This record gives sequence, C-alpha cells and structure tokens, in this order.
Amino acid sequence: MAPISKECEYLVIGGGSGGLASARRASGIHGAKSIAIESKRLGGTCVNVGCVPKKVTWNAAAIRETIHEAKAYGFSVEETAPFDWTSFKHKRDAYVKRLNGIYERNLSNDNVEHVHGRARFVGKNEVAVAKDDGSSETIRAKHILIAVGGRPNVPSDIPGAEYGITSDGFFDLEKQPKKVALVGAGYIAVELAGMFNALGSETHLFIRHDSFLRNFDPMIQEKITAEYEKKGVIIHRQSSQSKVEQIPGKDGWLNLHYKDSKGEGVLDIDCLLWAIGRAPEVEDLDLAKAGVQLDHKGYISVDEFQNTSADNIYALGDVCGKVELTPVAIAAGRKLSDRLFGGHKDSHLDYTNVPSVVFAHPEVGSIGLSEPQARAKYGDADVKVYKSEFVAMYYSMMDPDQKGPSAFKIVCAGPEEKVVGLHILGLGCAEMLQGFGVAVKMGATKKDFDSCVAIHPTSAEELVTMR
Ligand SMILES: Cc1cc2nc3c(=O)[nH]c(=O)nc-3n(C[C@H](O)[C@H](O)[C@H](O)COP(=O)(O)OP(=O)(O)OC[C@H]3O[C@@H](n4cnc5c(N)ncnc54)[C@H](O)[C@@H]3O)c2cc1C
Repeated sequence: MAPISKECEYLVIGGGSGGLASARRASGIHGAKSIAIESKRLGGTCVNVGCVPKKVTWNAAAIRETIHEAKAYGFSVEETAPFDWTSFKHKRDAYVKRLNGIYERNLSNDNVEHVHGRARFVGKNEVAVAKDDGSSETIRAKHILIAVGGRPNVPSDIPGAEYGITSDGFFDLEKQPKKVALVGAGYIAVELAGMFNALGSETHLFIRHDSFLRNFDPMIQEKITAEYEKKGVIIHRQSSQSKVEQIPGKDGWLNLHYKDSKGEGVLDIDCLLWAIGRAPEVEDLDLAKAGVQLDHKGYISVDEFQNTSADNIYALGDVCGKVELTPVAIAAGRKLSDRLFGGHKDSHLDYTNVPSVVFAHPEVGSIGLSEPQARAKYGDADVKVYKSEFVAMYYSMMDPDQKGPSAFKIVCAGPEEKVVGLHILGLGCAEMLQGFGVAVKMGATKKDFDSCVAIHPTSAEELVTMR
C-alpha cells in the first residue's frame, strides 16, 4: 500500500452538490481541515449534466412556446430560421464552465483542498486517489463522507442498446435530432421529451404503463399525459423494446424495434435516449475494505444521521437513493457537518415534506402525500380533497387548442384539515410551490390557506380560495 501522503479531519469523496456543501460547511464555518476528491467536474450531476443545463434548455423550450403564443396577443413574430441548437449548446456549455470555476473558487475561499482524481477505500480511514496526472496518493481522515451520486442506466438485455444515449449524452448533442425516441416515465424522461417536442423534434415517448410520472398524484399523471399528447408528443403505452440497429447508409440513424399497446413496430430515429432510472456509483469504491454496507437495491444504507454501517463513515445524496434532488443533498451535507464539527449533536435532515418540481410542459409541483397515499395512511373518512381545474388568464387571448391546463389539488387529513399533500400543474407552478412548501412544512391547515388573502389575478390565488 502507498504511504499516507495527507491527513485531514474530513475527507469528502465526490464533488457534487452534497459533498461540496458539506466540505465547505465543515471547513469554512467550523474550521475542520477538509479535502474534497472529485473525479470529473466540480458541481457533479446538477451543474454539469442535470438541473442547471436542463433548466437552461427548458427556458429555451419555454421561449419557443411563447413565440408561438405571441400572435394571440397581437404580435407578428416569425421565426426566420430553425432554433440554433448548436450555438445554444455551446453557450450553455460556457455557462456551465463558468460555474465550475465558481465552485473551484468557493472551495478555495472556504479552505477546502480539492484533489482531482478517483477515490477508493484501502482501509477503514484510508482512501487512495488515482489522480488525473497518473500519480496516486493515499489520504487518511478521521471522518469520511461518501457523496458519489449516481449515473444513468442503460438496459443490459436489449441488443444494440448502446447506440442510445442517456441524459448525460443529451447535454453533448451538437445537433438537434429530427426524430427522437425516449424510453422512460420518470421526471427526466418527461422533462427531456417536453423540451425536444417544444423545440421542434418529432418526439416519441415509450412508457411501460398507460401514464407517466407514476410516483405523482393520479390527477397529475392524467393531466400531464393528456397535455403531452395534445402538444404532439407521440406516446407509446404498455411498450417494451427488443432490439436497436444502426440503419446502413444513414449516418446516425437507428431502427428501434418495439411493442406497444397497438402492436409491434419499428421506428427510425436519429436519437434514442434511455431514461430508465439511475444507479449508485459505488462499484469501484471498494466499500468492503471500509465495512460499508449496501441495501437490497445497491444504495448505501444510512440512518437518519447519514451514518453508514461503519464508524466515522457517512453517506448522503443520490448514492443513498432516498430523495434524489440537489437541495436534499446540500441540506443533508450541511446538517452533517454541523453535527460532526459544529457541536449540533442532533443535527440531521428531516426528509418529510420535501417539495419537488418537474420542469414539464406545463410545470408540475408536488409536496407531501398523494391522494391514494393519504387515504392509505389516514383512511377515507379522515381525508378531504379540494380540487380546482381552470384555464390560466394567460390563455384568455388564445384559441381553444392553444390553451393549456391548470389543475390544483389540496389533500387534507383529520378534523382540523391539516394539509398533507399539495399537487399543482400549470403555468408558474415551479415558483409557486416554494412558498406553499413553507406553509405545508409548518403544518398549515386548510383554514390557514384560506386565511391568506388572495393575490389577484394570479393562478396561485386558486390555492387560497378553494371550496
Ligand atoms: C437530467 C437530470 C436533471 C436533474 N434535475 C434536477 C432538478 O431540476 N432539481 C433537482 O433538485 N435535482 C435534479 N436532478 C438530481 C440532482 O442532480 C441530484 O440529486 C444531485 O446532483 C445529487 O447530488 P450528489 O452530491 O448526491 O451527487 P452528484 O451531484 O452526482 O455528485 C457526485 C460526484 O461524485 C463524483 N464521483 C463519483 N465517484 C467518485 C469517486 N470514486 N471518486 C471521486 N469522485 C467520484 C462524480 O464525478 C460526481 O461529480 C437532476 C438529475 C439529472 C440526471
């Protein structure tokens, strides 16, 4: 084994949202000597191949929708050329690169040493780093955090699956595909399908059941699936894929062999994107050397304080597979550092009532229990549901086929009608949910919602005026 080249109080493996937040808090606020190891680019999934470039692309898609809608308000806007995907992509890359630089500077401002390389355990408190320049070093630490995130899955049982890309590859696309097939029904598939469609690619979405976003309230599933179809996304229900082949003489084009509710078919496409889930990035960490155990799904098992099965080794973020969102990883990372180095012995993240948003077309927001979950938990008699479906005023100037839906649901439990679930779909819902999330987190009742005077005219006012 290589001799120990460095020692520190806190060693963080993974320079993504959770790892960096924790290392900076430990060092910058609590003064613990910290090192963060990152094998790729600082900022991890969120900054490089997730939230950030995704939202920028969603903005582009939303602008294209607005351009189409502008006519209804009396504007004569015409697109004189197709969307310039290539230059937009390069600009987006440059923005992400700037963020990488800011992350680097923030680490140094908070006195966190950044080691660029791939880490693996060589002992309980020791980690070897294979550095980019070919050298290696072994670091010993009192506390070690594993925050290595996850990566997208590609099916292993479909011949030719490797011709497809994943969400990572989406951000590498230099040219806009003409005809794209996405496989998956989770939020990543739905967001990317919405963007391709809004930006003008023929978009096919292959789902295993009849609706998508199946972890969301049934109202959301039904409305968003119908709206995607209305907007022109071709949905292949009850589908499976058997083979992918390159089309000879047609560079970059593929034949996707599939089955769906209408029968068997072959679809020619110039982009196939798998969005069928993600897996924790644990294989080459040599976790057994540190005594860190995985759960039955392969994620690192942790308790509510982010402790793994090994003393002084912690894990958080996507590698634990609990709530895979950036702010969750950040919050868990900060709480952990406050506990380990700030003297806050009880500090840990409360994973209940975490708001989440899908940047679909339109946006979806959700916090708390879906209606079926609430009914299962409290019983039908103790659950009261308030619903409102309407057309946002923005669409008042548009023809019926241009109008988008808004659908809100408040799920209440108990005689005091505590709000235990809030599900909203429509224009502006992503921004709307953050404020209402505070109320739900504070334990608001329906009466509390109603006691807030409406802001008129908005869509959000529906949430405080529902009967
Ligand atoms: C397409 C997409 C869109 C998303 N959109 C949103 C969104 O809008 N909002 C939201 O909240 N969340 C979103 N997410 C989820 C979010 O990106 C993750 O929940 C978040 O990045 C998890 O942070 P993390 O710190 O756990 O891991 P990551 O950010 O994945 O960071 C882990 C880091 O560890 C590094 N690493 C792995 N193994 C090693 C090793 N052995 N040695 C050294 N380094 C290693 C990796 O290179 C990586 O940089 C999105 C994800 C995807 C894929």
